[in-house]
Amino acid sequence: MVLSCLSFVTVSPANAPSHATTSTANHRFDRIANPNAESPTVQAEAMGTPRETRTEQAAEIVDRLEETYPDSTISLRYSNRLELLIAVILSAQCTDERVNKETEPLFETYDGPEDYANAPQEELAEALNSITYYNNKAEYIRNACEKIVEEHDGEVPDTMSELTDLPGVGRKTANVVLQHGHDIVEGIVVDTHVQRLSRRLGLTEESYPERIEEALIEIVPEDDWQQFTHLCIDHGRAICSAQNPDCGDCVLADICPSEKGDSEIDLASGEPW
Ligand code: SF4
Repeated sequence: MVLSCLSFVTVSPANAPSHATTSTANHRFDRIANPNAESPTVQAEAMGTPRETRTEQAAEIVDRLEETYPDSTISLRYSNRLELLIAVILSAQCTDERVNKETEPLFETYDGPEDYANAPQEELAEALNSITYYNNKAEYIRNACEKIVEEHDGEVPDTMSELTDLPGVGRKTANVVLQHGHDIVEGIVVDTHVQRLSRRLGLTEESYPERIEEALIEIVPEDDWQQFTHLCIDHGRAICSAQNPDCGDCVLADICPSEKGDSEIDLASGEPW
């Protein structure tokens, strides 16, 4: 199971799709934003024509991706909530594959929040040294575990505010822990794949993860909030990669306003393909 590197790749506002003002892609994008917007007749028959509204577009995307990836789920390995929290902290800007490789011996060495809180910084960092930003992450883990011991009786908290009060835990990490550790779904995890695909597929023009999450919550059915992330991650890995998406082999090609054969612009970056 590989949840995705749960890292943010924030698209700079300078690269936002608003710069792509003359493309056919933008006509389609406008059409999603405003269902009543006039669209050229040719687009009705063209590839890459999204559904009339963003809500319909989101539902169609979920339906098709669920058929394509029926077993889509989290891919970080863990056996309890604390291990989940630690794995998600480590996965920022790192692949899940790498995290899983490192956490296997880590979880055998340290058992419970006291162990991590009491571990010397250098020792814990050394145990994580193939992970990006391992020094900072080791410190986050030690400090988060100290807080869990002192303020939460050694249990990983189950509210968004308590989780995001832990060092190294932002809304994305908290959402993953709530969903997979506590069975509480109160948002949509926006990682780099969700960010890219949501923009490419015309679901949002927002650039920042928290704004993207707000937009998605409005259009993705609540029952699909958790699965939406995993489906985007699977599709982003398998077909719709950041640099070279395989539009010719994509189940969403006919409803994707960024489809390469038909659009000059990648709506994720706002740049020409
Ligand atoms: S692979 Fe191409 S057609 Fe499919 S979602 Fe990505 S950009 Fe759109």
